[in-house]
Amino acid sequence: MAIFQTRALVLKTQDYKESDRLIWLYTEKLGKVSAIAKGAKKNRSKYFSNTLTFTYGDYILYRGKGMYTLNEGTIIDSFQGILSDFDTISYASYLCELIDISMAEEESNRELFKELVTAFYLMKNNACDLETLARVFEMNVLRATGYGLNLHKCSICKEPISSADYISIQYLGGVCIKCPKLNGMRVSPAAYNIIKYLNNLALEKSYRVTIPSNLKEEIEKLLGAIIAQSYIRKPKSLETLNFIKRSEKSE
Ligand SMILES: [Zn+2]
Repeated sequence: MAIFQTRALVLKTQDYKESDRLIWLYTEKLGKVSAIAKGAKKNRSKYFSNTLTFTYGDYILYRGKGMYTLNEGTIIDSFQGILSDFDTISYASYLCELIDISMAEEESNRELFKELVTAFYLMKNNACDLETLARVFEMNVLRATGYGLNLHKCSICKEPISSADYISIQYLGGVCIKCPKLNGMRVSPAAYNIIKYLNNLALEKSYRVTIPSNLKEEIEKLLGAIIAQSYIRKPKSLETLNFIKRSEKSE
């Protein structure tokens, strides 16, 4: 039997049998893993509160022949305050879902783990615009999984470009004026420049950025298309929130 001790954040949970809970953890050392928390559904269980979605803590897991079993969990921050605001819950769920759909099981990435925790602290402190945070996080996830954007060179002829109005989704980069524009998306030069800036921005600095809402929409569309193309599942966590926002706009 192997025992592991690691920092982790609970990405999602599901009730299992009468009193158990399945948890999906994004761990610092093991990457994404699922584990069973025995008896966690009972109020008085020592696993009741440390296995709630968004909880961040130190966990001890052991593994027999099958899946991981939770043995101990010490909460560092429960992040349950996030649950009081619908926008924040939606974005927090989205970041967790993005990790879930993009990362293979047990593929460790300490850098991305750190980014996820940083994003949660920024959301907890209302420190930044949620959309901007999500876009920077998306670019980090894309890069970590081999789908990073290259916006400094034309993705077809490889000539350096300072700006462009087209991004190839196939080649994950800008396309210069001379090259054919296929399998991609037209973007305004202003959006292109912001994407280029965000692509190199450390997540903890995303609170400094203010993006006009028309450009936000362009950037969201482009990254959404790349995410939809790159992973097997399409994220759904923001659908309800976006639906509400669209209906408010059209009223
Ligand atoms: Zn070119």
